[in-house]
Amino acid sequence: MAAAARAADGRIITAVNAYHFTGGPCAELVLIGTAAAQGACELTTVVAVGDRDRGVVPPCGRCRQVLLDYFPSLCHRKRQDPKDSP
Ligand SMILES: [Zn+2]
Repeated sequence: MAAAARAADGRIITAVNAYHFTGGPCAELVLIGTAAAQGACELTTVVAVGDRDRGVVPPCGRCRQVLLDYFPSLCHRKRQDPKDSP
């Protein structure tokens, strides 16, 4: 998994998950830490994508809660439903 965010100042922050069989942090959580380390404390948009053609993947429950707590006004890019395509 990989995640990208747009910071309020326009910067794009990227991160990947740190897989571990004990349950490593998801890409979204690594992204929050990476953003903080770069001084980007306000994220406006976050998207996560999976490898092997998984495309855009919604956050897991833990990440959803963390993202909501840190960035209540965040815009999360969801997988587009083919029915919604023009
Ligand atoms: Zn997660």
